[in-house]
Amino acid sequence: MYKPKEKGGKGVPVLYLFLGSHYTSTHLKQAMNLSSNNKTNTMTRFWCGSYLRKLKMIKSDFRTPVAFNLPPAYVFIWKFLEHFKLEGEESKILTNHRFIISVVQDRESVTPVRGLRYGDASTVWRNVSHPVLSNRLQDLSWMVAHGILPVRAVMHSRGMSATSICPRPGCGAPESVRHLLWECSAAVDLWAKAGSLQFPHLAREVLHGQLVLYGVSQQKITKKDFAEMWLTLATIKDAIWTSRNLLVSRRRQMPPVAVKRNIKGCRWRAKDTATKKNRLRLRGRRSRRSTNRGPSSGGLALRVRQEGRSFRAGFPSEHQRCLEGRDGSGLGKESPRFCSTFNTQRFCILYSCS
Ligand SMILES: [Zn+2]
Repeated sequence: MYKPKEKGGKGVPVLYLFLGSHYTSTHLKQAMNLSSNNKTNTMTRFWCGSYLRKLKMIKSDFRTPVAFNLPPAYVFIWKFLEHFKLEGEESKILTNHRFIISVVQDRESVTPVRGLRYGDASTVWRNVSHPVLSNRLQDLSWMVAHGILPVRAVMHSRGMSATSICPRPGCGAPESVRHLLWECSAAVDLWAKAGSLQFPHLAREVLHGQLVLYGVSQQKITKKDFAEMWLTLATIKDAIWTSRNLLVSRRRQMPPVAVKRNIKGCRWRAKDTATKKNRLRLRGRRSRRSTNRGPSSGGLALRVRQEGRSFRAGFPSEHQRCLEGRDGSGLGKESPRFCSTFNTQRFCILYSCS
């Protein structure tokens, strides 16, 4: 979970690393005289001086007093650097929290993918977090690549299912992730028809287990074609998983026609979600850029503008209703501070209702 996405994790930030890198870099920056506050710099240099001389971050100077023992607040820095084996790193890295985090994350190994024949594991993890996939499809692909989709064989091995046999009537094989999505008779029928089921992106490729499960193949394919094909494959896997869950939980078997319809609908929704996600990401980047320009374009101005718009939109009719009162007997009957229509004081005070 804590590894970067391209190494098989979910990119969940490690709080210890995140906060510790901020704390360490801030104090080391002060000790290296990179901060603008001279008094703080001198104080930090005094308390950390002995340790920093040991790290060879500052030169030994016997004319300057330094503390021999680190105070408890700075013992954390020593433990943090020792924990992540950062004591030999350059001062440029240790004085920037982003560099510290990236150095630690770069050391993480790539999680291997079981049963992978073509390509390497990092390609699989890149495919799993492909931007064309919605969050739901990314999660599904991530669980498939790790082999932890909660199918019966996985649940049985962890003592959470009474049986490991596939729930499809007449199947009888253990329900592993590969069996569910590729080997089961229902999946085989679906994949056999997939090329001709109005999915032109699949018709160009010969489908095989590695391509379906992990998106790796020996054939070369352009990025655009791969994105379309990978989205279609992920949507079909999602439809198989959904129909299987319906069978297990509600004992309802989806006919192939319904599965096909579901795939088309899901694919359209997934593409729409991915487009929205990309749009939001771009908008986020733009707003960050505009926020960096200065305080005038910050969130407050936007909020005020939005509130102004809602004020203008909501004012006339609601204010009129407030004036008329609950019984509609006329203007000025209601007290401005106790509007019975809206049962609130704030509304009337805000709009100067009288
Ligand atoms: Zn089966």
